[in-house]
Amino acid sequence: MPSDPIIITIDGAAASGKSTTARHLAEALDLLHVDTGAHYRTLTRVLLDKGIQPERLAADPLALGELTLDTGIEGRRSTLLVNGASVPDALIRTEAINQSVSLYAAQPAVRNCLLEYQRSQVNVALDRGFRGIVMEGRDIGSVVFPDARFRYYLFADPSTRQQRRDNEGLADSVTRRDQIDSSRTQAPLKMPEGSAVIDTGAMDVDSVVNRICSDVKASR
Ligand code: C5P
Repeated sequence: MPSDPIIITIDGAAASGKSTTARHLAEALDLLHVDTGAHYRTLTRVLLDKGIQPERLAADPLALGELTLDTGIEGRRSTLLVNGASVPDALIRTEAINQSVSLYAAQPAVRNCLLEYQRSQVNVALDRGFRGIVMEGRDIGSVVFPDARFRYYLFADPSTRQQRRDNEGLADSVTRRDQIDSSRTQAPLKMPEGSAVIDTGAMDVDSVVNRICSDVKASR
């Protein structure tokens, strides 16, 4: 097992290009790809199905209940298992989830439930023979792995980002989610101090990936 795992953090607002970049980096550098947006989407689905509203969690964090979190691996992608089961993409990438996810993600009970799980992904990756992880989200370089060697913040102007989502054909107001995500009290979306900033409106995916790969290769 390598003693010095590669940890790359990719933060940014909705549709800033995180997932595409992270997927390519995982391939190029033999890393496990961890999409923490999918974690929040999955818990949102589970809680909506149980009829637990965000306001109830705010009043009673214990309403979240005891959830067992585990990891499934599909190719280079890590997926969250809740009480032993994964929730398919088709059920977490819906208009209802787009509408609700930021409200659940703002709840400390939800964030606290995921934090240690997310940190544990480094060991999961190493145990499975990967060289480390590339983790994407909103608070990865600021809260989950603030000491990671390779931290990036991706941005693009709001109209470019909204256009990317519209092209996917699902209703999703990126500015509404950004507003909720950046104004919450715990672990808000922000540019992590000391992270490198990349404009994905001005650079194509290959250039972004090459830039990050060069940083990693130059340091090892
Ligand atoms: O990345 P994606 O757009 O799928 O994320 C869905 C939502 O999950 C975000 O709008 C945000 O509310 C929440 N999220 C978060 N912290 C992260 C990743 C996602 O609060 N690290």
